[in-house]
Amino acid sequence: MDLAPARPDALAILERLGVAHSAFADGATTGAGLSARSPITGETIAALAETTPDETREIIGRAHEAFLRWREVPAPRRGELVRLLGEELRAAKEDLGLLVTLEAGKIVSEGLGEVQEMIDICDFAVGLSRQLYGLTIATERRHHRMAETWHPLGVCGVISAFNFPVAVWSWNAALAFVCGDPVVWKPSEKTPLTALAVDAILKRAIARFGEDAPEGLHSVLIGGRAVGEALVDDPRVPIVSATGSTRMGREVGPRLAKRFARAILELGGNNAAIVAPSADLDLTLRAVAFSAMGTAGQRCTTLRRLIVHESVYDALVPKLAKVYASVAIGDPRKDGTLVGPLVDADALAMMDRALEEAKAAGGTVHGGGRAPMPGEGVYARPALVEMPSQAGPMLHETFAPILYVTRYRDLDEAIALHNGVGAGLSSSIFTLDMREAERFLSDAGSDCGIANVNIGPSGAEIGGAFGGEKETGGGREAGSDAWKAYMRRATNTVNFGTTLPLAQGVKFDIDA
Ligand code: NAD
Repeated sequence: MDLAPARPDALAILERLGVAHSAFADGATTGAGLSARSPITGETIAALAETTPDETREIIGRAHEAFLRWREVPAPRRGELVRLLGEELRAAKEDLGLLVTLEAGKIVSEGLGEVQEMIDICDFAVGLSRQLYGLTIATERRHHRMAETWHPLGVCGVISAFNFPVAVWSWNAALAFVCGDPVVWKPSEKTPLTALAVDAILKRAIARFGEDAPEGLHSVLIGGRAVGEALVDDPRVPIVSATGSTRMGREVGPRLAKRFARAILELGGNNAAIVAPSADLDLTLRAVAFSAMGTAGQRCTTLRRLIVHESVYDALVPKLAKVYASVAIGDPRKDGTLVGPLVDADALAMMDRALEEAKAAGGTVHGGGRAPMPGEGVYARPALVEMPSQAGPMLHETFAPILYVTRYRDLDEAIALHNGVGAGLSSSIFTLDMREAERFLSDAGSDCGIANVNIGPSGAEIGGAFGGEKETGGGREAGSDAWKAYMRRATNTVNFGTTLPLAQGVKFDIDA
């Protein structure tokens, strides 16, 4: 069986979505610059020139000019642009979803789900555009009024990872636009085509919106780390939202801190779930399978560690091993496929290395290794690894479908194991015992930014703030009050009296 090539469909979609042909060459060879590949077949879809340092500076300059105009457009009117973007995304959902599949290798329903997430955050941001609420604050001074107001901040740089090539942009951009901030986006060098497609879709919304939208409101920078660094170092960019590995965050965070820019860091996860004695094991099995093997283990929220009570271990883990052995791996475009390709050969090499280390640490590996497929795509068999204790590669994220399983005796021990790693993104407990569930969610429970009960750690909705603690970077984006990071907060005190009382009763009387 041969795999159908990805390139013709990808090029046809780019054309339908109105991506200017000058933006890329559809040849299979590249000179200097990037090549966009499909992980499904390994073939090159297109060649793209990298944005040069001069172009980057110009683009940021235009974005700054756009900021000076965009900040004066009333927020509900800015929301109208995001409403139109949501409409354009609805119209383009099938095409963009399939392009995500072709360029990132996700199964079709996940590609479509990613676009649905973009639509959802647009809806959220439209409402938000009329709710950028400040506070009135009690003042100690007579005939004074104190309030907190929110104002646009400036150009928002967005750096995104390959595994959510479009949704992460939308979590940031939809909020940034209603908050009055233009966006300069540096997508992953592994997924430039979906970024160009999103830019083309947005440009359609901008054309319908009219002249209130300044030139330079949105731009895409094509390239890798060096282009990202130029964005991170530019003083005209007061906020950068960077999504990717903890390694990337360790470089980007200090650079932003050095120039006192605001950082939203959305970094790696090493997410765990605790399976308690009372867990509904059927439901747990399904939740674990999706969370650990979905997106071929390439989600920041992928379940990587399963901490199982010794009383249910033997009832759960052999069943899980069976599911692992029979899961449908293959072409993500095909109905029924649950696990698509890894992004590239490096990902498989990292997976192989981690499994070797796990064996050296006493682990028993079920599955793993390369799954045979035609073409140059790299497919892995998901691995379930029984570990005698939490050690070795279990302590850090390997961005591949590996689930480590270990046993526990009491809940405090399980929570300590759960929290005993560097990352702090997403977490779950499976239990029908309300005391255990509440303890897990309490101040003394999970130390993650996301903590769930009876659902896996993967698959967040946009309504909540998304992000995590510790080596995950501490940033929050998407719902709740994440919008506040994209705005400048001002505390305003107004004196409408005739005297000048000073705060804290300070006296400073001059002869006047
Ligand atoms: P990566 O760190 O290799 O790259 C992410 C982005 O950062 C890319 O656009 C890359 O070009 C850019 N980059 C890398 N080094 C940079 C530097 N020094 N300066 C500026 N930009 C730089 O990550 P990846 O392999 O694309 O994605 C996988 C990783 O992302 C995993 O660790 C995953 O957990 C994480 N991730 C986190 C979230 C989250 O919300 N917490 C979401 C998705 C992915």
